[in-house]
Amino acid sequence: MYSIADDDFSTLQEDRDFLEGLVLMGQVVKADSLDELARLLDLDPVLLNTAIADYNRSVEAQNDPRFHRKTLINKIDHPPFYATAKTVTVHHTLGGVEINERTQVLNSQKQPIPHLFAAGEVTGGIHGANRLGGNSFPDCIVFGRIAGTEAARN
Ligand SMILES: Cc1cc2nc3c(=O)[nH]c(=O)nc-3n(C[C@H](O)[C@H](O)[C@H](O)COP(=O)(O)OP(=O)(O)OC[C@H]3O[C@@H](n4cnc5c(N)ncnc54)[C@H](O)[C@@H]3O)c2cc1C
Repeated sequence: MYSIADDDFSTLQEDRDFLEGLVLMGQVVKADSLDELARLLDLDPVLLNTAIADYNRSVEAQNDPRFHRKTLINKIDHPPFYATAKTVTVHHTLGGVEINERTQVLNSQKQPIPHLFAAGEVTGGIHGANRLGGNSFPDCIVFGRIAGTEAARN
């Protein structure tokens, strides 16, 4: 899928400079019209124009009967238009070895395996069944420091 924005995406010059850099690197596609954008992305221009028109109508009405979006802030109607390809990626793996509060890796009997310490995404169970965004770095730093201290002490 593509994330599509228009010229109103930001008023900050640093954002605009950053986006132009992404256009130069080919990570963002820029076009002066939706028809041109469709051509560059190899999409059906009728479908793209219809999708954007539907979205703009939802913004005007502040009601999105199809997808029930709540953030209907800006219409997409000021060229140039920008498209960014989106894809599914692995953001975090929740599984991994079990550790205790000293970051000692536990065996299947929950006993520490001597001289083995772990921290970060290689460990599992820290975040439960889902991870709150942003909580991996504190996990890595807090348990990483403990693991380093414990390993040095060993
Ligand atoms: C797109 C994206 C955005 C994210 N944004 C956030 C965010 O905003 N906030 C947040 O908290 N978390 C975020 N995360 C999650 C977070 O980045 C990771 O959970 C975290 O970086 C894991 O750190 P780590 O040190 O445990 O593992 P990694 O960063 O995966 O480090 C493991 C290292 O081990 C190396 N390695 C692997 N195998 C071997 C081997 N055999 N020998 C030697 N080296 C090896 C790898 O090359 C790698 O450098 C994001 C993740 C992704 C993918």
